[in-house]
Amino acid sequence: MRLSRRAEAMAPSPTLAMDAQVKEMRRQGIDVIGFSVGEPDFDTPEHIRQAAVEAVERGYTRYTPAGGIPELKEAIRDKLAQVNGLTYTLDQIVVSVGAKHALYNAFQVLLDDGDEVIIPAPYWVSYADQVRLAGGRPVIVPTSEESGFKLTAEQLKQHLSHRTRALVLNSPCNPTGAVYGREELAALAEAVLSHPSCLIIADEIYEPFVYDGHEHVSIASLSPDVQARTLIINGVSKTYAMTGWRIGYAAGPKAVIKAMADLQSQSTSNPTSIAQWAAVAALRGPEEPVRKMVAAFLERRDIMLEGLRALPGVTVHQAAGAFYLFPRIDAVFGRTAGGQRIDTSADLAMQLLHRARVALVPGSAFGMEGYVRLSYATSTEQIRAGLERMAAFWRELG
Ligand code: PMP
Ligand code: GLU
Repeated sequence: MRLSRRAEAMAPSPTLAMDAQVKEMRRQGIDVIGFSVGEPDFDTPEHIRQAAVEAVERGYTRYTPAGGIPELKEAIRDKLAQVNGLTYTLDQIVVSVGAKHALYNAFQVLLDDGDEVIIPAPYWVSYADQVRLAGGRPVIVPTSEESGFKLTAEQLKQHLSHRTRALVLNSPCNPTGAVYGREELAALAEAVLSHPSCLIIADEIYEPFVYDGHEHVSIASLSPDVQARTLIINGVSKTYAMTGWRIGYAAGPKAVIKAMADLQSQSTSNPTSIAQWAAVAALRGPEEPVRKMVAAFLERRDIMLEGLRALPGVTVHQAAGAFYLFPRIDAVFGRTAGGQRIDTSADLAMQLLHRARVALVPGSAFGMEGYVRLSYATSTEQIRAGLERMAAFWRELG
């Protein structure tokens, strides 16, 4: 069957592909420890689940406006004001089927063929494919461990051109956990402001997950000029342990938001009515469950950091945010596991999955070879058991 060139060029999401493989192995009765997918292992808090039940009972089971119900947009507006100090009107906000969908729609309405989007690497797996699906050209700019995996203003300036339509900035970052400070953001924003065609797409989905005294700063909050050039992407998936509910949102320039809502009206229609009411309860409800989750993640991060640092040849940058670690593992390249040579992060991930029964994602999926990503959004027991398996695997390397 002939498929479109767009479809032929597309790869499935490697994080979701690894998760599907883990689920299939578990279904076959194989005991796999999963550090691959980035999703909180906590249940959605009770008051949010209850709000969804009530929404069903109250008959909120019909189409809603394609861009989301006003009650949810109001809750998002109030959150942006209270948490980020940002003022938006309801026509600057659109609700989507997860943050992934909001990003997808943004690229669709912003890009013409050949338009460039600057993406610092390592990057979250879907950005580049989404840009290509919209006809755009991802411009991948590698960062290094020395800069804490952060894009510098000098690097940005070297890649900005009249073709640049957007810079994707993901802080806290998946996969590295990097968190940009106010001054770093200000330097990047200044560079963007001198290129009128460039928008900042600020993916803030890991906003509350910051540790060691770091704070999340939304780049849009730096000045009204920067806000006017920023599209904020956020959602409830990670913050409220609601990955399956599929509610994300974007806030930014009216014209972009309207185009995204119009696109939804022609493609998905509204995000699920029931999930939208659950998201209202999430955003308006107590923050205590979020604080508890963040505290649990910090404890787990430290356990995982210690275990990974004990592996010979492995070094790990201390991630300031999100719920991932991104250790450097290229010291094992050229060695063997069960007679099989390991030459890439994908080889290592494959051997770990099949020999040690530990699932993680190769750095190459995030555009950086020599590293792997582990999610610590799983129980401390699983983390300890997984680290033991990895230690045994390392001892047996040939
Ligand atoms: N951005 C980043 C950086 C992510 O890690 C994820 C997680 N899948 C998303 C966006 C999408 O989140 P959602 O589940 O809301 O689509
Ligand atoms: N964002 C998560 C991850 O990186 C979920 C999977 C996905 O949507 O790609 O693992």
